[in-house]
Order: sequence, then C-alpha cells, then structure tokens
Amino acid sequence: MQVVDTIAGMRQLRSVAAEPVGFVPTMGYLHDGHLSLVKRARGDNASVVASIFVNPTQFGENEDFEDYPRDTKRDLNMLEAAGTDIVFMPTAAEVYPPHFMSWVEVGKLTERLEGAARPTHFRGVTTVVAKLFNIVRPARAYFGQKDAQQALVITRMAADLGMDVEVVTCPTIREPDGVAMSSRNTYLNPEQRRAAAVLRQALDLAERLWAKGEENAERLRREMTALIGQQPLAEIDYISVAEVETLDELTTIDSSALVSMAVRFGKTRLLDNVVLK
Ligand code: AMP
Repeated sequence: MQVVDTIAGMRQLRSVAAEPVGFVPTMGYLHDGHLSLVKRARGDNASVVASIFVNPTQFGENEDFEDYPRDTKRDLNMLEAAGTDIVFMPTAAEVYPPHFMSWVEVGKLTERLEGAARPTHFRGVTTVVAKLFNIVRPARAYFGQKDAQQALVITRMAADLGMDVEVVTCPTIREPDGVAMSSRNTYLNPEQRRAAAVLRQALDLAERLWAKGEENAERLRREMTALIGQQPLAEIDYISVAEVETLDELTTIDSSALVSMAVRFGKTRLLDNVVLK
C-alpha cells in the first residue's frame, strides 16, 4: 500500500494504477462501516484508492472540526488489511491553497434535512468530493447509506455535471445493538451510547407500521417522535419521511420513502435512516 499526501504524488500513482480504479473518500477514524466500502471497492475494481481528509469546509463554525477524532496509524493498518492500494491523505493547505475560491453547489436537495441544520455543510462536501474525483479520476466511488442525503447529493452532482464516475451507495453497517457505526459514536459516554439504540428502535417501528399497511407519513413521524421522546437523553433535531430522490416531505407514502433523523445525545448529533419500499 502506498501513502501519498500531495496532489502531484496522487496523480503520479494514479497514472500507473491498474484500471478500473475504485475510490473510497473518508474522514478517517475508520470502523467496519468504512471498511465495508473498501471491501466492496476491492471486489469491483483492479485498484482501490482511499482518502483520509478531515475536510474543514464541511464543518460549521461551532462544529467539531478541531475535536474530530483522528488516528492515522490505526487507519492505515486497517486500510492495508482491507486491501487498499493507495491512500491519499492531503493536508488542508494542499486541498485549499491560498486564494481558493471555487465551489461546487447542488441546489434544493442540499437545503433540507442536514442542509437545513448545517447550511454550509453540503457545499463543503460537494466541493471536496468533486476535487478528489478530479485528482483520483475513479471509475467508481463508494458512499454509505448511513449518510443517505450525502449519497443522494453526490449522485446528483455527478449526473448533473457529467462526471465520468459511477456513484455506488453501500448498506449501513451497525453495531450489535443496532446503532449505526460512526466515528462520532466515540463522543458518547456509556449512558448516551446505550440510549442511542433508540434510533434503530424508532426505525424498526416505522418499518413495522409500513409493513402493516400504514401509509400516513405523519403517523410515522408521530409514533417515532413518541418513542424517542421516552428516552430522556435523546433530543430530536428532525424526523423526516421523504420522497427517496427529491427528499420532499411526504403526506402519504406511495411506493417508497426515506425515513431519516438526526437526534442529539448531549452535544453529539447522530444520524440514521431506513428506506421503506
Ligand atoms: P466519514 O468518514 O464519516 O466521512 O464517512 C466516509 C464514508 O463512509 C461515507 O460515505 C459514509 O457514508 C460511510 N459510512 C460511515 N459510516 C458508515 C456505516 N456505519 N455504514 C456504511 N457506511 C458508512
């Protein structure tokens, strides 16, 4: 496995990599969710590139950029064991040189849910992912369903801008109690970590109601709100039942829906979702 921190170095390795190239962008502090993307990329492609970059522009002013967990040595060991060929880990100065002023913005899709709660977040994500795509030039890029809106936004960006990359969305990997794996789970104290299981329980409830024939989206939101409300450590940011591609909030679920939520435990904001179909 080769590790490179400059754009020029990455381009050089890319120019001699076996085709096709699969790419897994991450912010590091890896877990089995990230590794599932690497393994999928390994199966689909002749070369696998992963990036580790805690992207400052996708964090809001009062968010956790400084505190975001980092452990490069452990990450590199995990990536190597999972079969990664090249790791790109640029500095912020390499990605955002002086006078940087070009941004990629995706419209309405980025204004709701996570975008409503974090107004500059997706502009940071789409800009860095577009730049990484330009540097790595992958045939395929892998994203997790765990961040459902992000996967949709990247898919939209690639289609709208004619990027020559297939965006592949992979299933959410969970802990034994159902909590979605996330680098941010490390912020939770033991009590909050136990309480976080209520997210999966609320999604299970939505799935059960839908399986029984409930099509009223507001009823789902209400029942999930009531269930999470019983957990005193949980504070709901939003619960959404939305159309799977546009993320328009639904009144009636017709054939499918993305049920997603953001819930706070102390200062830690956790996301989870499930697709009803
Ligand atoms: P991050 O390092 O949080 O930016 O995540 C990098 C990639 O891993 C993103 O595409 C995430 O959606 C994906 N990912 C994070 N957690 C999980 C998980 N539990 N299951 C599947 N994919 C995940």
